[in-house]
Amino acid sequence: MEDFFKLISTGECTALLDRFTPLASETVPLAAALGRVLAADIVARELLPPFSRSTMDGYAVRAANTFGCSESEVALLTVAGEIAMGEPGRTLSLAPGQAVRIWTGGELPPKADAVVMVEYTRLLDPTTVAVFRPVAPGENVIRAGEDCRPGDRILAAGHRLRPQDLGVLAGLGLTTVSVHRRPRVAILSTGDELVPADQTPPPGKIRDINSASLAALVEEAGGVPVALGICTDDFDRMQATCTAALADCDLLLLSGGSSVGQRDFTLRVFAAIPGAELLAHGVSIRPGKPTIVAARANQALFGLPGHVASAMVVFHLFVRPLLRRYQGLGTTLGLQTVRVVTGQQIPSAIGREEYVRVRLEARGANEPPLALPVYGKSGLLSPLVRADGLLPVDRDSEGLDQGVEATVLLFP
Ligand code: AMP
Ligand code: MG
Repeated sequence: MEDFFKLISTGECTALLDRFTPLASETVPLAAALGRVLAADIVARELLPPFSRSTMDGYAVRAANTFGCSESEVALLTVAGEIAMGEPGRTLSLAPGQAVRIWTGGELPPKADAVVMVEYTRLLDPTTVAVFRPVAPGENVIRAGEDCRPGDRILAAGHRLRPQDLGVLAGLGLTTVSVHRRPRVAILSTGDELVPADQTPPPGKIRDINSASLAALVEEAGGVPVALGICTDDFDRMQATCTAALADCDLLLLSGGSSVGQRDFTLRVFAAIPGAELLAHGVSIRPGKPTIVAARANQALFGLPGHVASAMVVFHLFVRPLLRRYQGLGTTLGLQTVRVVTGQQIPSAIGREEYVRVRLEARGANEPPLALPVYGKSGLLSPLVRADGLLPVDRDSEGLDQGVEATVLLFP
């Protein structure tokens, strides 16, 4: 294993993800559906709202009976009753010249087509109301089926459910939904130098950082992290752990040991897993070059660099899109972007795409923020903690001058 077998570009690495397909669907209750991705279209089977409802407290009327009225020439209507909240309005019928007291959300009686706000009425006696502002048909009313009608496609397959989507599902009485299974992601940190984060490292050792940050990244991206802890740099142990993990995980994330050193076993371990196919070893990005991608059927195996910043960058560029793809979202980064202006010169080497950690500094209301690089070795954590996102610099660029426009990928 003398060298990376072939350095590929980010585009080529992303294209490797096309072979993976969305995970099967499962049915979950609404309470567990936030952030999940629909596996099938949602089609309404009912009217929503189920009946025409008032949006104001006031009087349900025939709009035509209020036409032309004003402060000086009020329309006098006979109060034919009241529709208490939660009671059906359809039991009353509104004859011409009649009004019915109604509350916000109440069901309009048949023949009523508008509601006059109580502010524009005066009750003259218990059965006579004066209206001094006209209403148009449909005013202050949500009509039956105005939200949706039977057969309407409310939400499409591939849509990630948001709080308002759950609201409409509840409104339609759809209390379970079919969503893509969340990818189970096994996370294994490798290295003889690592101890669990809850231990005090003896001299020469350090705490395992990647297990914590990768689990959080997986969770944020919609996956289920399965923590496997630490494995020493030992081929047999690594292979046994990986094989066991693949029995019930969709994705395996190893960090450390992905390079070409004497003690870097990830490539050999992946190659030795029956049925696994190596897809990439080495991506021409910085940080993150020692990246390994392998596949076993629809399962993916990633060897991430051990350096914490490198592992995070590779996660955002390739693992996050794959998690989205597994969930039926397509192979997009899914990171928000923001237009910025560089606050200082950002040099970069030709021949590899660079992902510069930057922090953003707000400026005037209508000005894009300044992006300021937070430099630091990729083994350092503090630059990442101070950064708001990554500024990609092209493979063929020598860097960016100060004061030029650029796009930053924001950390989620
Ligand atoms: P490697 O990719 O195994 O050569 O590791 C590169 C660097 O990342 C070394 O300094 C490791 O000690 C460090 N490293 C590897 N894994 C972790 C981890 N889980 N947490 C913190 N640092 C790590
Ligand atoms: Mg190592």
